[in-house]
Amino acid sequence: MNSKLPHLETTIFTVMSKLASENQAINLAQGFPDFDPHSSLIESLNYYSYQNYNQYAPMIGVEKLRNFIVEKVEKFHKSIYHPENEVTITNGASQAIFTAIAAVIEKGDEVIIFEPAYDLYKPAVEMFGGVVKPIRLTYPDYKIDYSKLKELVTEQTKLVIFNNPNNPSGKIFSEDDLIQIEAILKDKNCFIISDEVYEHMTFDGKEHQSFARIPSLKDRTFITSSFGKLCHVTGWKVGYVLAGAELMKEFRKVHQYNVFCVHTPSQYAIADYLEDENNYLELNNFFQQKRNYFVDGLASTKFELIPSEGTYFISANYKNYSDLNDRAFAEELTIKNKVATIPFSAFYHDKFDENVIRFCFAKQEETLDAALERLNQL
Ligand code: PMP
Ligand code: GLN
Repeated sequence: MNSKLPHLETTIFTVMSKLASENQAINLAQGFPDFDPHSSLIESLNYYSYQNYNQYAPMIGVEKLRNFIVEKVEKFHKSIYHPENEVTITNGASQAIFTAIAAVIEKGDEVIIFEPAYDLYKPAVEMFGGVVKPIRLTYPDYKIDYSKLKELVTEQTKLVIFNNPNNPSGKIFSEDDLIQIEAILKDKNCFIISDEVYEHMTFDGKEHQSFARIPSLKDRTFITSSFGKLCHVTGWKVGYVLAGAELMKEFRKVHQYNVFCVHTPSQYAIADYLEDENNYLELNNFFQQKRNYFVDGLASTKFELIPSEGTYFISANYKNYSDLNDRAFAEELTIKNKVATIPFSAFYHDKFDENVIRFCFAKQEETLDAALERLNQL
C-alpha cells in the first residue's frame, strides 16, 4: 500500500509497554499510575451510568465540568474564561492538541516545537502539511535559548507548541520564561498551544505558570490539560482546551466532526470528584514524595539523575553503565533486567546522542521497591 505516512512508526509508549509485558518487566516506561483512583470517583462513575447518563453529552462538554475549569483558572491564574464560549471538553489532552493543530495548520505553515517534546506534536503537525522547526532546550538543564527562539520566529511561523511542566525532562518554566516568550510573540501573528497536563504536579514549592497568566496572548492561545493526570484515570481520556472565543469557534468546527463529544458519565463523575479541591491540590505533595522515594532509592546506583521539578517523570544519564544508544539500552534493561523505561531520543526529531532514559515514578511503593532492587543490581 502507498502509505500516506511512510516515516511514522508505532509510538514509543506502545512499543515499550508491549516489550515490558512480553518480558514480565516492571513498566516504568509509559506514563500512567499503577494504583487505583479514589473509590468515590469510581462510585460516581457507576452512579451516573446506572442513572442513565449514557447518551451523547453536549458537544462542548458537560456544564458542571466546564464551570469547574473556568473557576479553577480564575482562582489560580486570575484569568477569566467564559464557560460557554471559551472551554471545550475533549477526549484527553491528545485530542485537544490534535484538534487545535487541525484547526489552524495549513500546508507549508511553520510550527516551532521545543525539544525534548511529547511525541504527538510533530506527527500531528505534519499530517496537516505543517513544517516543524524544532528548537532544542539546553542539556542537561533544559533552558530556552532565547536568541535562537527569536531567530526562529518569523512571519512564516503559524504556531508555537509549549509544554510546561515539561514531559519528559521534568523542567518547570518560570514566570520569567513566560514573560520572555510573550515579548518575542507579541508582535507576531502566530498561535500558541500551551500543553499543561502536569499543571498540578509541581515540586519543592514551585508554582505552575499557566499561559492563562498572559492575557495579551489569550486570543491566540490554546491551553490544554488532562483529567487523566488530575484524577489518576489516564484510561478515561477526558481533557479540555481553553481558548479565546473566536479561536474556540474554529476549534469546535473541527471537534464537532471529529469526535462530537466526550464520554458522558465520566464528565459528571469527574466534576463531582473535583468539587473537593483537596482531591487535586494534594497531588503536588503526593508525587513529590514518590519522586523523593525513587531518587533516594537510586542514590547508590551510577545513574546521573536529571532533577525533576514536576510531572511524574525523572530522567537519568546511564553512561556509567553502558555505551549502547538509548533505545538499545532501554530494550536491554527491559529484557535482561526487567525494568522498562523510555529512551529519551524518542522526544527528538533528529539525533540525540546523550545516554538518557526516562522513568515514570507514578507507582505504588512496592512497584518502586521492586524496580529499585533490580536497578541497584546493575
Ligand atoms: N501532553 C503531554 C505532555 C503528555 O504527557 C500527555 C500524556 N499524558 C498528553 C499530552 C496526552 O494526555 P491525554 O492522555 O489526556 O490525552
Ligand atoms: N503521556 C504518556 C507518557 O508520556 C503516554 C501517553 C501515551 O501512551 N500515548 O508516557
